[in-house]
Amino acid sequence: MDVKKVCQKFYETKKISLEEFSFLYNLEDYRDLNAFARNLSLKNFGNKIFIRGLVEISTYCKNNCLYCGLRRDNKNMTRMRLEKDQILKRVEAGAAMGIHTIVLQGGEDPYYTKDLMTDIISVIKNSHPEMALTLSIGERPFEDYKAFKKAGADRFLLRHETNDEDHYRLLHPKKMSFKNRMRCLNDLKSLSYQAGCGMMIGSPYQKPENLYKDLLLILKFKPQMVGLGPFIAQKDSPFKDFANGTLDSTLKILSIVRIADEKLLLPATTALGTIREGGRELGILAGANVLMPNIGDSKLRQNYKLYDGKIGTALENKDDFYSLSSKVAAIGYELSLVRGDY
Ligand code: SAM
Ligand code: SF4
Repeated sequence: MDVKKVCQKFYETKKISLEEFSFLYNLEDYRDLNAFARNLSLKNFGNKIFIRGLVEISTYCKNNCLYCGLRRDNKNMTRMRLEKDQILKRVEAGAAMGIHTIVLQGGEDPYYTKDLMTDIISVIKNSHPEMALTLSIGERPFEDYKAFKKAGADRFLLRHETNDEDHYRLLHPKKMSFKNRMRCLNDLKSLSYQAGCGMMIGSPYQKPENLYKDLLLILKFKPQMVGLGPFIAQKDSPFKDFANGTLDSTLKILSIVRIADEKLLLPATTALGTIREGGRELGILAGANVLMPNIGDSKLRQNYKLYDGKIGTALENKDDFYSLSSKVAAIGYELSLVRGDY
């Protein structure tokens, strides 16, 4: 098989066989794959990288995902959350930097009731109607998603984690279900959110066939965003002894996903920058077009340890943002502060 031909066919037909997928995924020299995807990003976005200001709001979580440091049973975690006025302060700081998309992300923390969250969203959108607001706060009932949308939330990130029910069960406790995850994603779509799904690359028990199924989900669900990064073991989690996902696999999947949808909002994630210095830049060169600098509270950030060695946890506010500007310039790109809708 020829890399360019397989990419071109997939790009044109939006169809790919397991055999073709495996061929791309197993490439040792994947420069042509990255280049194909990068050219699609350049065609659609030029050399601009959209900036999303990430505000982490809580390290409390009622869930127990086996891979995550924020899981409820992790007693080695300092728990803290931002109150409404602290969140608003961070949003104002983002606005002052000229950022036009804010992402509020956190563990599934019942403290943020439907009413409190709705109130926070309304205040942000009333004072910054021009700003896009993204939520990444996990699984909620339809009514909550509906209220958040009505209050002005524009986008929602909820990684599906894996599009294989058996694999899903191996990554999560019994209480969580693949069915509910999918219910949430479908609710978000039906409420006209710009919705994002995604998965970790190299998560425990993951087989290449699982990633193929993830790709099929992306082709079918047609998300506006896909969040993907390598799995990184967290020392206090049940998966502490599993190997991390690799840079190579992540860069290949990033490119394949870019070819699946050339207009997709595709971040070069913090996890990618954590497994390898310069990993986010390589992500951009593999087709990513979004960066999410942390503009949140520095104390909470130090404790928001999903996985070991997370970069940026010790940075002062704004540093992540400003350092990214020179990092992307070094590879010929520029940060863009516009909303960057799909
Ligand atoms: N609690 C919300 C949720 O689960 O959707 C939002 C925050 S959660 C920490 C965001 C994402 O972090 C998850 O969807 C998961 O894919 C990723 N994550 C968690 N633990 C990780 C790990 N050990 N390595 C890499 N990514 C991880
Ligand atoms: Fe909680 Fe999200 Fe971590 Fe799962 S991945 S334990 S829901 S913060």
